[in-house]
Amino acid sequence: MLLVHKYGGTSVGSLERIENVANRVAKVRDQGNDIVVVVSAMSGETNKLIDYAMHFTQNPAKQEMDMLLSSGERVTAALLSIALQAKGYDAVAMTGRQAGIITDTIHTYARIESIDPSAMKQAIKEGKIVIVAGFQGVNKDGNVTTLGRGGSDLSAVAIAGALKADACEIYSDVDGIYTTDPRIEPKAKKLDTISYDEMLEMASMGAKVLQNRSVELAKKLDVKLYAKSSFSDNEGTLITKEGNNMEEVLVSGVVLDKNQARVTLRNVSDKPGIAAEIFTKLADEGINVDMIIQNVGIDGSTNLGFTVPGNELENAKKVIESFDHDIGSMDFDNNVCKVSVVGVGMKSHAGVAAKAFRALAANNINIQMISTSEIKISMIIDEKYGELAIRMLHDAYNLDK
Ligand code: ADP
Ligand code: ASP
Ligand code: MG
Repeated sequence: MLLVHKYGGTSVGSLERIENVANRVAKVRDQGNDIVVVVSAMSGETNKLIDYAMHFTQNPAKQEMDMLLSSGERVTAALLSIALQAKGYDAVAMTGRQAGIITDTIHTYARIESIDPSAMKQAIKEGKIVIVAGFQGVNKDGNVTTLGRGGSDLSAVAIAGALKADACEIYSDVDGIYTTDPRIEPKAKKLDTISYDEMLEMASMGAKVLQNRSVELAKKLDVKLYAKSSFSDNEGTLITKEGNNMEEVLVSGVVLDKNQARVTLRNVSDKPGIAAEIFTKLADEGINVDMIIQNVGIDGSTNLGFTVPGNELENAKKVIESFDHDIGSMDFDNNVCKVSVVGVGMKSHAGVAAKAFRALAANNINIQMISTSEIKISMIIDEKYGELAIRMLHDAYNLDK
């Protein structure tokens, strides 16, 4: 078999842990498999590098940031290769560029455009274990790019797709996808399987166990994706196409996202083009707008509410304040969070949303905003009730059973 393994920051967080990964990879090799290993930077390393840059300026050039941040993954790739060689295994470490990962030119949030897998294939043919630095590629100008936070998951899925690997296994400190973050609700249950669509909603709603773009790509390329633990030999969770048995599952999981902020604009001129202008300007600044709510206008004005990532609120504020002539009053709140309920079964069942609202009401938690999709309900609430709400929702849908 040809397998792609990805080991995240915690799994390679110390020399002992890199040694542990080397032993696991060696075992897979001994069983007669070909293996490509994608690694993250050691845990905390990427944040540390960001802090270094922030020492000089709050707004460092993104091209330099990519040069800086991509170094974390190179360190681990080289160390893992050295560790394997020390055990007598033939291994080679590659940067994103050496692995043939070509991206667009959007620094710090690049998209993979294509992969030329010839160097990886050649090394595999020569019997080598290939170790690739995750989270990075190279653009058409030859500059290094990074793929956005958590982007090593995306590297792994893209490589598995390009090599037509038999499976892509993402190793972290949890042994699979749970009904909610087990750090918040210890009663959370591990799922044997979850559909790509549900996993995509969970990841997009803030469950960082898998990066959302990696799930999207796995679905598109039909990559057999597993979430497993590097600290145990437990089964893990298979992320796959929606199976028939899944329709019986009403709700698969609940998700908390603390990195949310709410913007409320009151008495916005109710004329064509205002929303277009506001959201175009926000997009131009690279601000990701999530939930948007607009009411029917009264007397020539309307109210508009939306959420942005908490760390982008200051930027959003600057953009919005430039519209003062068309907006009566504005209110910004960084002390909110988003709780979401995800499940394919919602498509065909009534009353799923009402149950969520009742669970929060029973605990006196006020819902500030609501948005839904076919398989998800999201609610914005006060940040201090986030973890409580997750436990209440988990209980309301009997997810611990
Ligand atoms: P890595 O650094 O290896 O990429 P992450 O920290 O990104 O790992 O992801 C693993 C973490 O995701 C776990 O420690 C867990 O707290 C968190 N997590 C959030 N939601 C879930 C969930 N539904 N199931 C499992 N883990 C989850
Ligand atoms: N090291 C990068 C990050 O911390 C990428 C990754 O770990 O996937 O975001
Ligand atoms: Mg991660």
